[in-house]
This record gives sequence, structure tokens and C-alpha cells, in this order.
Amino acid sequence: MGVSGASGVTEQVAEILDKYPGGITLVDSIEFLVTWARANSIWPLIYGTACCAMEMMSTGSSRHDWARFGVEVARATPRQADLIVLAGTIVEKMGPNLVTLYEQMPAPKYVIAMGSCAISGGPFYYDSYSVIRGGDRLIPVDVYVPGCPPRPEALLYGIMELQKKIRKEGRRNPWKVGKVLDTPFFDAHSKAKREWTAQEKEKESAQLLARERFKAENPDYKPAKPQRLAKERFEPVTRAPFRKNGHDNAAVLTSVQRAFPAVTLFRQPDSTPDTVAGLGSEYILDLETGQEQYTDLVRFLKEDRELGIDLLLQVTAVDWQDHFDILVHLLSTRYGHKVFLRCPVPRERPEIHTISDIFKGAEWHEREVFDLFGIRFTDHPDMRRIFLQDDFPGYPLRKDFEDPERVIKRPY
Ligand code: SF4
Repeated sequence: MGVSGASGVTEQVAEILDKYPGGITLVDSIEFLVTWARANSIWPLIYGTACCAMEMMSTGSSRHDWARFGVEVARATPRQADLIVLAGTIVEKMGPNLVTLYEQMPAPKYVIAMGSCAISGGPFYYDSYSVIRGGDRLIPVDVYVPGCPPRPEALLYGIMELQKKIRKEGRRNPWKVGKVLDTPFFDAHSKAKREWTAQEKEKESAQLLARERFKAENPDYKPAKPQRLAKERFEPVTRAPFRKNGHDNAAVLTSVQRAFPAVTLFRQPDSTPDTVAGLGSEYILDLETGQEQYTDLVRFLKEDRELGIDLLLQVTAVDWQDHFDILVHLLSTRYGHKVFLRCPVPRERPEIHTISDIFKGAEWHEREVFDLFGIRFTDHPDMRRIFLQDDFPGYPLRKDFEDPERVIKRPY
């Protein structure tokens, strides 16, 4: 079908039949049939990018079953698709791909923005450096389904609204490419807050005047004393002692300090295994080391059979403003204990050796730290940004990151 969809077919038929008696009614009937068929056989291109996608999947599965409305053949390809359901957050890096997908879909095509993120950026409207505030800034949206997330019934209702819209199309009301919102981000909440504060001030001064007037008119007035209820007493709750999991902290610290005497605890440099034992089993050992033995220590923690630490949970960083800390979270899947390992990195030269040769999984985590904090990992096999575009200005998780073009500050 051409760009004009159903109307394209009926236009050609109309050219032949319109001039005969009853021809217009016949063409109208054909048109009705075509739009009816099209509205009841919507094939979606799935674009589930965050939590809303769960609700979209639920809409497609047995309990709700969007196939009952003719929504079938949901696939991750624009081929033959005539609907995109934007289900989830859209970030800047996805933007060009989303536009390409939309352009690759044959016309006529439709878009449903499902959930607050796809409508306006949702919870990421403020303080976000990467989220696009609404799919309609990239492609034209036909139906908005509000919610965070909307339930499957809401999406089905959105689909039914779209079907109504499709059924109204025809040669007198042909499908055409919708509009894309090209207004700059408008911070409506800050404006509302300023107006609200002004109103509150006005109200307060009116109240002050009223209070003074009341005092002057009733000089002997004394407010009634509030009656307080006796505080209820409850039996103390007996809690089950925390179940010990894995090696105790004192034993782990003893093993580590035997091999690396310079290793200390974060913010407790004088701690010994005895004092660590006193911190209780809920405390997770938070080791601190210098760069010179960082990789050796990670290797030791992984290879020491007694400690049994075999899983890297995460590599992340903290910006302390005068320096960064690299934080490595480790777990023993065999015994169950966890260890944090941190290593300071100077702000002037944010660089540290990679541990991706020890834990393969560190490769992506380190790229994330590089992307968001700008800390470079030397000898890393692929030191590139991972989430943001290569030309993204700055490192958004640094405390001094500012980008007034992109980030709208939360006014409260
Ligand atoms: S609208 Fe809410 S539920 Fe949907 S993707 Fe955004 S945060 Fe998740």
C-alpha cells in the first residue's frame, strides 16, 4: 500500500466508480471494509525498553491476549509492522535507532506511547542527563496511554482508541505523517512552584494580620490546652539473631592482612580482626588499598581457596570531590560472604589498572565507570563509552557535572 494507505486503493477505485449511479456508496463500502480490516489486523513492532515492557508482554500473553483485538505477529522488526508500542524509557543514544525503525516501517503506520516515560520522560524528567522527554520529540505519536506503568487493560483501551482512529481514515480523511514535537523542554513545575510560593506568602501575611486583629479584639483569650493520650506501651519484640553467612569478617581480614599487611578498613585504619569481630556479622568487610597493590589484592581474593571469593558483583566508583574511590563488590558463592574493596584514585589523573584480566565480567563495569565518572582503566581491552554517545559532553556522575541544556533541575 502506498503512503496514503486505504485511501490510496479506494481513490483509484473511486476514479472509476464515482461517476456511475450508486458508485460513491460502493466505494464508501469498499473503504469501510479496507479500514475495518486494517484496524483489526494491527501488527506491532515491539519496542520495550524498560518496566512498561513487562505490562506490554502481559497484554500480549494469555490472560489479556491482545490477539483478540487483531494485534498479532508482534515482532522485533519493522517489516510489515504498522504500529510501534513505545513501552519504556527512551534515552538519547536510542533516539537515532528509533527514528530509523519508524522510517523503515511501511506506511500507514501508528505509534502508541505507553507510560509516563514514553509520554514525557516520566520519573526521569528532572535531573536526567540522558532521557528523552517523550517519544513525540522523535516520532509522531497517535495515542498516549498514561500510567507508570499502565496496566494491560489501559494498553488495550489505547489500542481500541487507535482502531477507532484507523476506522475513520479514508479518501476524505487520508493517513498522513503526524507532527513531531519540536518545542524546547519546558520546565512547567518550576513555574508552578514559583506561583505557589507567591500565593503561600500572600496567605501567610493575611493570616498574620487576622491573628493580630483577633488578639486585639480578644485580649483575654487563652487557647484550650490539648489533651494528650497516655503513650501506649508495647511488649519488646524478640528478633531472631542475624544468621551468619559465610566466613566471619575477622577471619577474612586476618587472611588478607597476612598477605597484604598495608590493607586497612575504610574509615577505620586502626581496625584489627578483634575490633572487626565486634562490628557484628551484618557489617560487610570494607577493605581499602592503594593502587600499587590493587590488582594483586583482587587476584589474591579470587585465587585464595580458603576465602573462596569467586564472583565479581560490581565495579563502581564514588566521587568524593577531592578524589574518587573505585569500589569492587565481591562474593563467595561457595560460602556466602561478601567483601567490598576500595581503592582511591586521584582526581587530577583519574586512572587505574583494569581487573578485567582477573574477572572477565569487570570489562563492562569498568566501561560504565569510564562512561559516567571519566576514570580510565589502563590495559583495558576496549576502553570506550558504553551508554552515552562518544561525543557526550562530560561525565554525568561526577559531582561537578553540569549541563543546563540537557538537565532540568528538580525545583523541590
Ligand atoms: S513509565 Fe514507569 S513503569 Fe513505565 S518505563 Fe517509565 S518508570 Fe518504568
